[in-house]
Amino acid sequence: MLLTLTTTHRPASDLGHLLVKHPDRVQSFDLPAGTAHVLYPEADEARCTAALLVEVDPLKLAGGRGRRQATTPDAFTLGRYVNDRAYAASSLLSSALAKVFRSALRGESRDRPELAATAIPLTVRVPVLRCRGGAELAGRVFAPLGWAVTATAIPLDEAYPEWGDSRYVDLTLTGTLRVADALNHLYVLLPVLDDAKHYWVAPDEVDKLLRAGAGWLADHPERALITRRYLAHRRALAGEALARLAELRLADEPAADDSVESEQPDRAPQASLAVRRREAVLAALRDCGASRVLDLGCGGGALLTALVAERRFTEIVGTDVSSQALTVAARRLRLDRLPERQRDRIRLWQSALTYRDDRLRGYDAAVLMEVVEHLDPPRLPALEDAVFGHARPATVVVTTPNVEYNVRYEGLGAGRFRHADHRFEWTRAEFAAWVRRVAAAHGYTATVGGIGDEDPELGAPTQLAVLTRKEEA
Ligand code: SAH
Repeated sequence: MLLTLTTTHRPASDLGHLLVKHPDRVQSFDLPAGTAHVLYPEADEARCTAALLVEVDPLKLAGGRGRRQATTPDAFTLGRYVNDRAYAASSLLSSALAKVFRSALRGESRDRPELAATAIPLTVRVPVLRCRGGAELAGRVFAPLGWAVTATAIPLDEAYPEWGDSRYVDLTLTGTLRVADALNHLYVLLPVLDDAKHYWVAPDEVDKLLRAGAGWLADHPERALITRRYLAHRRALAGEALARLAELRLADEPAADDSVESEQPDRAPQASLAVRRREAVLAALRDCGASRVLDLGCGGGALLTALVAERRFTEIVGTDVSSQALTVAARRLRLDRLPERQRDRIRLWQSALTYRDDRLRGYDAAVLMEVVEHLDPPRLPALEDAVFGHARPATVVVTTPNVEYNVRYEGLGAGRFRHADHRFEWTRAEFAAWVRRVAAAHGYTATVGGIGDEDPELGAPTQLAVLTRKEEA
């Protein structure tokens, strides 16, 4: 079984840092059902390819150590030993990915943290992938995630074309994505396409699925099929997973989800606006070197989960006026299951942004992501005082919709806002004026920009401001 991952991001050999596998060495890893090897057929400035090769030991695979009983649908005993498992990518390859690229799957990189968080040009090739449902299904599951998909059915026998196609496809994916996202997509979707898990599906597989699917599965148009197949058609587990995904969709980014932004037809298969917003905020936080950060009005914790994934953020505080939002955020972060050292980095506090709160003083940075427009305009001065006058973080990152862009949204009648709970939405001039006034009043300098594809006349869909506190005399 073979999978290759290629990048042309310069210097391409940095891929070795992201995967934490040195390009000059061949490394091997023991697996419950065989051995995995990582090697680099090419690794230079311009182009680097990492290959994951999994050798299956049919005895180990059939042996069924502990609960790892083979459940391949081979009806006869010999089929347990003589089968295609050694050649066709499947859930075994996925388990190998999880074991060999653990930290890369989590988006962690000690040596290249910024690159790990950056979308780079990638090509994935799986030359032989067992694909139940045919080549077309591969497109349906990968394309919505931003991949250009080429899946070619492999003929049963090239000498006898009349025999038709085999159950295997040759899969190539190209796209500009974070390596961690690419690996998580493969980790979940290779076994989904194969649809014959080689091990017993235990209840903790639901957690694994939701963890690997964080940020992309809840909104995936094929989430039901993916969930059912991933959980090997175990109804109760699939039901639980789908319910939790629905909950995430509701809790997650209320500003994006039941909003008109997420309903736009024919959007290019690129990261959603919500994802790009999160990335832009993270980039601003990295740029200012913050390590102790506040996410004010954190909602269901969409940003918090991304903050927790980066070690540079040593103290992460989410606040919201809604205790329900905080409960959802806690569940989403799996606070009760995190190791103590991780849990100690995170605090969730109920707090209203319109009142001064001493706990919020002394932080490096605060984020107000899609929050200000949820306040009645007469309450804004109270927020300004509480955040810029009292908490006074060194940096404040603010995002809010650009109302001028709304005419680009189908189904959004004149005078309507993107989300039912928005009390107002600003033009670019209105936002810039507010930012300038607040900065001047509280001793900050400010830059204003946009997030998302810029319209030449209307600007970008989301507005972004970064306010930096001036040195205090
Ligand atoms: N920042 C999150 C949530 C945005 S929705 C995200 O981008 O995904 C706006 C959030 O602001 C809601 O969770 C809401 O409960 C919170 N909020 C609204 N008014 C608030 C106030 N006065 N004080 C604190 N939080 C408030």
